[in-house]
Amino acid sequence: MSAKIALSTWPTPLEPMPRLARALGLGEGDLWVKRDDLTGLGGGGNKVRKLEWTVGEALAEGADTLVTTGAAQSNHARLTAAAGARLGLNVVLVFSGTPKSAERGSGNLVLDSLFGARIFWAGDGEPSTLAQAADDVCEQLRREGARPYVIPFGGSSPLGARGYVDAGNELLAQLPGVRHVVVALGSGGTMAGLIGALGEERVLGVHCGAVAEPAAAVSDLADGLTGRSVTPGALRIRPDQVGSGYGVLHEPVLDAMRTAATLEGIVLDPIYSGRAMAGLIQAVRDGDVRRGERTVFLHSGGLPGLFGHAQTVHRSVAALRAFRAV
Ligand SMILES: *Cc1c(COP(=O)(O)O)cnc(C)c1O
Repeated sequence: MSAKIALSTWPTPLEPMPRLARALGLGEGDLWVKRDDLTGLGGGGNKVRKLEWTVGEALAEGADTLVTTGAAQSNHARLTAAAGARLGLNVVLVFSGTPKSAERGSGNLVLDSLFGARIFWAGDGEPSTLAQAADDVCEQLRREGARPYVIPFGGSSPLGARGYVDAGNELLAQLPGVRHVVVALGSGGTMAGLIGALGEERVLGVHCGAVAEPAAAVSDLADGLTGRSVTPGALRIRPDQVGSGYGVLHEPVLDAMRTAATLEGIVLDPIYSGRAMAGLIQAVRDGDVRRGERTVFLHSGGLPGLFGHAQTVHRSVAALRAFRAV
């Protein structure tokens, strides 16, 4: 069933980034940012486009409660909570870990409770533990007379990925002749959807460490979405920005965050968009992205996640910035 609903105002802006382009050694008019961080729901980010499809299906099926899974700082979970609030649906978020985790009360978690979502902590364990916990939560909700609908991890299913076919088509109208679209690769739906609109050749995914097999994840979703075979080997994926792990900050990402902030006034997050920018910088150095080629950085949002790591980011930038009176 496909019954897309509207959760934002489209299209998102496409803005030039001439100062960043020059700093990277590209031509001044070569580099653009697609502002999917400015989607108008719940703090914004790429998950809004996917939710237009998945929550649309939930409503069409008569659901009254949305259930989804993730890590405590999940942007997808936060935006599911916001979508539920806007549509008058209950939301239960099933998170890995325990409420004692250090990030309690920061970043996305603050917004989850502000939007009125309930949180179930599934404890530490295999990814299958999380899916099992979501099943158990749904069982209990049904016993209580609710009608739950489960949105998959990261909102990534062939249905959710259709939101990024929409984005790719928007982009083709805004910038005909676009050669590269650089995007963070988490659960893979965003990259898969962009491939649905733009083909494998033009989409460069930067792996963020959220899944074990990024190429398989994207190709499975793209197969389901396009109905043709998208082979893992045909995908452009950079694995070089994971660092020492998904939730761990590494220096090239902090550097990319500083560069985008100081040259363009653009805020990136340390888990996804910062990694994507670090990947773009490296792709220019490698010659994978070259001067004269129209290049779009897809800003996927994540700002609240920055405040889940605020101390680390602050420590790394503040010391350089003291103003001394003389
Ligand atoms: C989830 C997320 C991504 C990755 O998108 P996927 O479709 O899961 O690959 C990128 N950036 C941000 C800010 C996200 O929250």
